[in-house]
Parts: sequence; C-alpha cells; structure tokens
Amino acid sequence: MSDHEAKSKGILRWLGLGAGPHGDEDIDTVEATGDTPTPAEHEDPRERRRRQLLTDIGSFLLTHHLEVNSFTLAIAHDVLTGADPKLACLLEERVISRQPVNMHWLEDACRATGRNDGVAQLDAMMAKLEHSIQEFGQTTVAAKSAANEYNSALEQHVSELEQVSKAGIVITELANIARLMLDRTREIEKEMNRSEMQTRALQRSLDEARRSAELDHLTGLPNRRAFESVLERETGTALDLNEPLCVAICDIDHFKRVNDTHGHEAGDRVIRAVAQTLAKISNENCHVARHGGEEFVILFRGKSIEEAWSVLDEARDAMAERRLVNRATDIPFGRITFSGGIADVFAHPSPREAMKAADDALYAAKAAGRNLIIKEPGSAREAA
Ligand code: GH3
Ligand code: MG
Ligand code: MG
Repeated sequence: MSDHEAKSKGILRWLGLGAGPHGDEDIDTVEATGDTPTPAEHEDPRERRRRQLLTDIGSFLLTHHLEVNSFTLAIAHDVLTGADPKLACLLEERVISRQPVNMHWLEDACRATGRNDGVAQLDAMMAKLEHSIQEFGQTTVAAKSAANEYNSALEQHVSELEQVSKAGIVITELANIARLMLDRTREIEKEMNRSEMQTRALQRSLDEARRSAELDHLTGLPNRRAFESVLERETGTALDLNEPLCVAICDIDHFKRVNDTHGHEAGDRVIRAVAQTLAKISNENCHVARHGGEEFVILFRGKSIEEAWSVLDEARDAMAERRLVNRATDIPFGRITFSGGIADVFAHPSPREAMKAADDALYAAKAAGRNLIIKEPGSAREAA
C-alpha cells in the first residue's frame, strides 16, 4: 500500500468510514460460499447505497463517540453525502490534525460554515408565509364588510324601485336585475366567509407547525432550537433590566447503564421523568429545555449564580429522592441522578462561552462523583 493510500485510509478510518472499528480488522466476517448469491447481490443498488450510507453514518458517530441525535445525524448525513462540503473540509482538517471531533467542535464548525443559515432561512420563509396569510385574511375581512355595505345599499334601492314599479315595465325590469345582483353578492359574501375560515385554519396550522418545530417530542419541553432563541431574547431583556442571567447544563448520571439494563424505551421514560422534575422549576424567568440526548439546559434570569445554583440543587435533590420503577418489568431503575454545571452569562464575552463554561463545570461535577451541581470557577472568582 502506498504512503498516500495508507494516509487516506487512516483519514477514512478517523471519519468513521472504511476500515475502522467496524472495518475488516476488528470484525469477524462470514464468507459467502458456493454459487448462492448473497442477499446483497439481489438488492436494488439504491437500497444498497442507502444501507451503506446508514452504516457509514453509524460508524461515523461511533468513531467520534458522538451522541445519536437529530443534530449529529444531520451532520453525519450531510458530511458523508457531500451535501455540506464546507463542513466536510473542516472535518477533514480536524481529523488530519488528530484533534477530537466532539459536540462543541461540531457546533463551532457549523457556526463557522454558516450551517445554521438553513434554520434562519426557514424562519424567514415561515415569517413571510405568516405575513401573506395575515394580509389575505385582512383583505377578505375588508372585502366582506364592503360587500355587506354594498348589499344594504342595494337592498334599499331594490325596495324603492319595487314601490315605483307600477310606473312602468322598464323600472320593473331594472328591479329584477337589481334583485339578481343582490343574490349574486350574497353568494359572494358566503364564499368570502368560507375563505375567511380557511385563512384562520391555515394560520392555526402555521402556529402549530411553529410550535412543533420548537418542541422536544419526547419530553414536551422546548428543544435546543427554541432554547437558542430564548437565550438570545433573555440576554437582551436581562441587559435592558440590568438583571443577572445564569445558564446551567445538566446530564443524567450513568445513563448508558439504564439503556443497557432496561432498554432504550425504558431509557426514554427515565429521560421524561428527569424532564418532569426539572420542568417544576420553570416559570417565566426560568426556562428549561432538552438540549439533546439526556442533557438539559436551564436559563435563570433575575437570579444570582448562588440563587440559581440553590434552585437547581433542590431539583437535583428532588430527583435523587425519587424511586423510579420500570413499569414494563416492575424492576426498579435504582437511584436516577443528574449532575450539572452553572455559569454566569455576563461573566463571559458571549452567552456561547458561558454555555461552554457551564459544560466544563458539568464535567467537573461528573469527575467529582456525580449527583452534584458545580458553579463554574470563573463565577466563583467573580463572587469572591
Ligand atoms: P455520565 O454519568 O458520564 O454522563 O455517563 P453516561 O452513561 O450518562 O454517559 P453519556 O452521557 O455519554 O451517555 C449518554 C447516553 O445516552 C448515550 C446514548 O446512547 C444515550 N441517549 C442519548 N439520547 C437518548 C435518547 O433519546 N433516549 C435514550 N433512551 N437514550 C439516549
Ligand atoms: Mg450525555
Ligand atoms: Mg450522562
């Protein structure tokens, strides 16, 4: 194998493609024998490509120890299919320089390549559509009321004409024509009523679609996308009102064991239980969201880092006190706990860096034994 081949094989392995943890070195393969074609030979080429893509996506996530969530799946898909060449380039450089490809790096890389622009574009399209629907609704309402006024005026004329109909046949005919016009405008009015109802239904569907795009369907909490807009909005409000703002990241302890022992579905129910406990501290100044996987983020406005820590620590304690049982098997889950890191947003140059500090504090909490909330060292220094 040439030097170049060996190098590119190495890169592919880093990317989670070709020979790797699931490549020819590490996995037992069963050779096909005789003339019987293997199922793969029968397979439609498109089906085979899809199967290969799924395998590559899986290998990519496993190689880089990435969580399986919509964010990482979309990235793996776009990098492997070439749908996002800019990100693929950055990834290749990262891999060549032998640095880890983790969530933080992926988030930075997405931002650097403007990958989030898709979300912004979708938002802009939704806003445009909403504007058009509103305009259409207003036009319909205005047209309807104009038709109404016109109807009343016409009705008045018709009855006047009928009263003088004895004066001659021409006037009678005029009255008949006017009567027809009146009937027609009534029909138009009915159609407009229908249009107005349809506009309202469309507006409701749009509101529903927007809510759904910002909701985590497993827990019913806002999702990461929704949290990002809340973070931006609340940063502005806190600055305007000169209030403190703190952000926390929490992660369920030893969650892999829950999945391994009880299965993924039971794991999902545990995620929901933790979400419920955390949701209890939410209010208009405290926003709880699912950040992905078994991680949650919380934003506290108007509380110092000590006060926010204390609220979150109570939630941690409440969770540790709960005794969850797998209702499918009646086997207890054991104690489910979570750890967290909390940071003062304004002690950092940007909310993003505050999130990073909270994440570092979370890892300190994990290292210190878990079932613990730790304040970032930066804010402790500030407080001191
Ligand atoms: P630690 O205490 O260090 O956090 O240990 P951990 O076992 O919780 O480790 P880690 O946070 O890395 O593991 C998260 C696991 O959560 C890995 C992933 O398979 C699983 N997971 C991620 N999202 C979901 C989900 O939506 N449902 C279920 N059931 N499992 C998920
Ligand atoms: Mg985790
Ligand atoms: Mg965990």
